[in-house]
Amino acid sequence: MTASKLKILIVEDNMMNKILFREILSLKGYEIFEASSGTEAVRAAAQFKPDLILMDIQLPEMDGVNAMRLIKSDDKNIGLPVLALTASAMKGEEETILGKGFDGYIAKPIEVKGLLETVGRYAAAIKGHK
Ligand code: MN
Repeated sequence: MTASKLKILIVEDNMMNKILFREILSLKGYEIFEASSGTEAVRAAAQFKPDLILMDIQLPEMDGVNAMRLIKSDDKNIGLPVLALTASAMKGEEETILGKGFDGYIAKPIEVKGLLETVGRYAAAIKGHK
């Protein structure tokens, strides 16, 4: 399996952000799946079996922290990295996010180069384990 075929689930309720993530990542050759709420994210994770999840924090129905924890509590998702998408760039925020159980952090507004570098690092690591 090549890194370009990596399946990424984008969980984002902001339409503009969702479109932007989808455009940037699908252009790079990743296979993209989408969800707009925490409950949709849990369903989509089970249905599409993504290799990587990018999860907004503030979501309708169920927030990103609870959705991430629910997804990670499933034995079938062991080792599945979930990165938080957060608008907050406050100092110390990253530690708080990681402390909640996320594997990493991508700051919004979206910065194309940084996004591709971060996703690329996970893609390479995941590819190495397949
Ligand atoms: Mn949101």
